[in-house]
Amino acid sequence: MIERTLVLLKPDCIADRHCGDVISRFEASGLEIVGCKMMLLANEVLAEHYAHVMDRPFYPELKSFMQSSPVIALALSGENAVALVRDLMGPTDSRKAPKGTIRGDFGKDTMVNVVHGSDSPENAVLELKRFFAERELFEFTAKR
Ligand code: GDP
Ligand code: MG
Repeated sequence: MIERTLVLLKPDCIADRHCGDVISRFEASGLEIVGCKMMLLANEVLAEHYAHVMDRPFYPELKSFMQSSPVIALALSGENAVALVRDLMGPTDSRKAPKGTIRGDFGKDTMVNVVHGSDSPENAVLELKRFFAERELFEFTAKR
């Protein structure tokens, strides 16, 4: 099934110049970019996006990391895009992520882990709405 999913290239990905490598992996896996923007995450957007970890002791540190520079938000489209992106990313803790995964190859630790990817099709729909207006999303697949 063709799905869309939300990816964020986090501040470390931009600072370490890994955006090209990361996007290449998504494209090489058959995903295509259907939305793209660079943005500084506002407090409200971040609080919604990370609502599931807001009560954790590390939230202030995570907030400051995620606002330390702009992020690049990508909407990716493709067959099973949500699960495919999660597989390519690897687990949350970069130190435990296998080599060959994005986090395993480019990440530092549990927080500084290169990318965000939606964790379910339902969350992908909500997250794409949070980061993109409908007019900022495009569809190209049908044209090839
Ligand atoms: P993800 O879906 O793999 O990104 O992980 P979660 O949804 O569980 O957590 C969201 C983000 O919070 C992660 O990507 C990390 O950047 C950060 N995070 C998760 N767990 C920890 C932790 O134990 N400590 C710190 N400092 N950050 C964490
Ligand atoms: Mg998550």
